[in-house]
Amino acid sequence: MNITGQIKRFIFKVNRFVDDRVISNIILYFRTRVTFFDKFIKVIEYHRGLYRYPNQMLGRKMDINFDKTDVLVFAAHPDDDILGIGTVLYRHRLKDEKIKVVFVTNGTAGNGESWYRRKDKAKNRANLRYHEGSLALAQIGVSKKDIYCLGLPDGGTQRYMKQMAVDITMLINKLNPNRVYVHGIEGGHIDHDMTSFAVKSTCHKLGYFNVFEYTQYYPAQPIGTEKVKFLSSTIDKTGVEMIEISEDERKIKRKMLSFHKSQGVDKYYRQGETIRKAELKNSDIELYRYCPISSSCLEPLVQDFQMNIFFSELTVLESENHSV
Ligand SMILES: [Zn+2]
Repeated sequence: MNITGQIKRFIFKVNRFVDDRVISNIILYFRTRVTFFDKFIKVIEYHRGLYRYPNQMLGRKMDINFDKTDVLVFAAHPDDDILGIGTVLYRHRLKDEKIKVVFVTNGTAGNGESWYRRKDKAKNRANLRYHEGSLALAQIGVSKKDIYCLGLPDGGTQRYMKQMAVDITMLINKLNPNRVYVHGIEGGHIDHDMTSFAVKSTCHKLGYFNVFEYTQYYPAQPIGTEKVKFLSSTIDKTGVEMIEISEDERKIKRKMLSFHKSQGVDKYYRQGETIRKAELKNSDIELYRYCPISSSCLEPLVQDFQMNIFFSELTVLESENHSV
């Protein structure tokens, strides 16, 4: 390619990046303040055939095998599992425990959310993120058949809370794991907070209590922090465990992160790991306190989870959608 062609290509790339960043920021501004905005996006997603639960969800991989499950991990995006608890998972594998990992979103956002990206591009991105996630987990012997994706839009979990709760109900009921890991609510990423709230609230309703949460990043704790701590909480939490990561374990964590090439996260290999038993009740208090969505937008979501009728609807939906 001649020099003019190279310059044109460079300008195109910069333009594209700026456009996506500008659009993403405008979307973020509105979707955290105006309830109607997310409903509007959901209509677009439906009409474009991107997200129609449960059979048409971009990047969904739910070919569940119901064999023994010691550890079930919920990660909003492929790579959160490694950044948040890569070493914890490695130690479970050393004890020959069986791990299953659920990516809640398809990881398609990057430089633009899937609802306004070209469908084929979003699809390729979803495939790539899952592929990278499975290569990383293969390093500690978690096979592809044990890695699922709910196929929710990256950056748009708040639009599909009910669907997420249906899937969580099915996974907990069918896999009956010994232990569950999920994000804490900490205001680092809306998808992390939504995943945490949905998992904790659903497990509470199901009477499943062995849930642990992990911290990752939030405004006062940038990604890559070595000694990660939970935010102080209004809810009494005990049994915080900071993982001392050995140099050998660090190498494994770094190697796993290196497979997430599209994210460039291997530079955060020093990210620490801290876990604690999750308090399942009243996680709405944390949501209102830390999640960067306005209270008026959060209220309808929280109310859904507080209504018993919501959970009886889930049971019906679950038996219709996942009968095996
Ligand atoms: Zn994430």
